[in-house]
Amino acid sequence: MINALSIDLEEWYHSELVEGRRSSFSQVEEATEPILDLLDRYQTKASFFIVGEVAERNPRLVQSIFDGGHEIGCHTFSHTLVWNFDENRFREEMKQFHSVLEKILGSVEIKGFRAPCFSIDNRNKWALKVLLDFGYKYDASIFPLKINPLYGVSGAPTRPYRISFEDVRKENPQSPLMEFPLSPLTFGGLKLPISGGFYLRALPTFFLYWGLKRINRSQPFLVYFHPWEGYTKTPRFKLPLYNRFISYYGISSALKKFEFLLKHFRFARVDQVLGLYRERT
Ligand SMILES: [Zn+2]
Repeated sequence: MINALSIDLEEWYHSELVEGRRSSFSQVEEATEPILDLLDRYQTKASFFIVGEVAERNPRLVQSIFDGGHEIGCHTFSHTLVWNFDENRFREEMKQFHSVLEKILGSVEIKGFRAPCFSIDNRNKWALKVLLDFGYKYDASIFPLKINPLYGVSGAPTRPYRISFEDVRKENPQSPLMEFPLSPLTFGGLKLPISGGFYLRALPTFFLYWGLKRINRSQPFLVYFHPWEGYTKTPRFKLPLYNRFISYYGISSALKKFEFLLKHFRFARVDQVLGLYRERT
């Protein structure tokens, strides 16, 4: 079973619970290096959903990710939640993203999108149409359970599906857009997020192993990870206790867990797992 591996390429201050704080201090390059080294060591290609303003400031990093054979995807230009856009402003945002990426890489096909903080649901399903207009082939923003106060679409499929533009929880075999939702562990009628971010940092390694193998009995899973999550020098904002816990818990051991996954599971780019990949010629 080949699973999908995704990295959201963003700065340490793009973390969802730092409440819009920004900084001029960039560390995305140092934080991403160890991830790229591990991917090389385990001969694994991943999908990088890139924030446009991060690409603008770090063109060499984007180029080296691309040269390494990884997939280049979009994580918006400014890491603004898609709920905070209307359709026109979202189009502008996407235009800005594509013009930056084109400056760096020339005309590269960008097929995949991940919304910051999984911010696509039925309230802003118009975003899917925008993605289609920009040539996207898949979205990977649906978090198919409601456990976090901010995000989650309960009742959405938990395996890749052709997403309906009328109702993101529905499959439409005619839809031109695929959805790869985040993969929860399902057992005893319960659904538990397991495959990325805070959940990956917080859950013990033996449980991750057991849970992900269990998902693999019937389907591939999709992992998401952020450079700042695996970097011990990630600066810490003074945050309220809950936000601090969710943002920073387990950072010191996260890269080891990431490596554990690479060692014990097979991974590829999201577009490869979805059958949307063509070898570059
Ligand atoms: Zn993000």
